[in-house]
Amino acid sequence: MDVTDGSDPHIPPAWYDGSRTANARVLVVGAGSLGEEVLQALFACGFRRMLIVDPRTVGKDDIGRLPLAAESDVGRFRSETASRRMREKTTCPGFAYHAGYVRELDGWNFEVIVGCTGDVDTRLFVNARARTYGVPYIDVTADGTRGKLQVVLAKGPCAECGMGRLRTMGLGAGPSRERAAARTRADPSTERRMASLASGEALRIACGRSDLCTKGMLYYDGADGSTYTIALSVDPKCPNHSGEGSKWTSKSSMQGTGPL
Ligand SMILES: [Zn+2]
Repeated sequence: MDVTDGSDPHIPPAWYDGSRTANARVLVVGAGSLGEEVLQALFACGFRRMLIVDPRTVGKDDIGRLPLAAESDVGRFRSETASRRMREKTTCPGFAYHAGYVRELDGWNFEVIVGCTGDVDTRLFVNARARTYGVPYIDVTADGTRGKLQVVLAKGPCAECGMGRLRTMGLGAGPSRERAAARTRADPSTERRMASLASGEALRIACGRSDLCTKGMLYYDGADGSTYTIALSVDPKCPNHSGEGSKWTSKSSMQGTGPL
């Protein structure tokens, strides 16, 4: 896929601000196949400053699955591979990487964060940090031919609220799980569609139009190409909306760790 082939469905609208988009600092969490699609979709939208974070390395079975990785990348960090391949492909120098955990980041000075990892703990951590620092967070996942996207803004429900809702519906992983269970291998065209949707949301945020972002939880079904959204409200049990005196959970206590 050529990132400059114009295949992005987001034709620049009247509010599009190329300069703000190019200058927006975007944190991309997860350099798996979805993360790599997100990098390409962001670039196609005009984003030029991205930090990609992933602690994992490229495995042999990733070849043919990770859109940017080649045989020679096996054993190298996914984040380094994605950033290098994007620089090669686009000649844009603005793809930085951190080969490690998102918890190790020194600062959270971003205009927007896109979470593209299936790891529930990581998503909850990034969600909590995004709330603390007031950075808009786009939580996107793909599993098989199904995708899910939520835009977390300064006000309103956060990703943990969204997961709480899934839990009560019996659809998703609860935040108490230590590790994400083995998931269905995501369908590449579903991942591209989710990456495109996520980059469209990032574009609205970068251009100051977060009021136009998707509200609630967006579901995509790659089997028939349909999307629908479910309204979300703040979960009264969610620790990301309570005052300082509230009971600390194991998740919210992580906000006090690290070099920040
Ligand atoms: Zn919440």
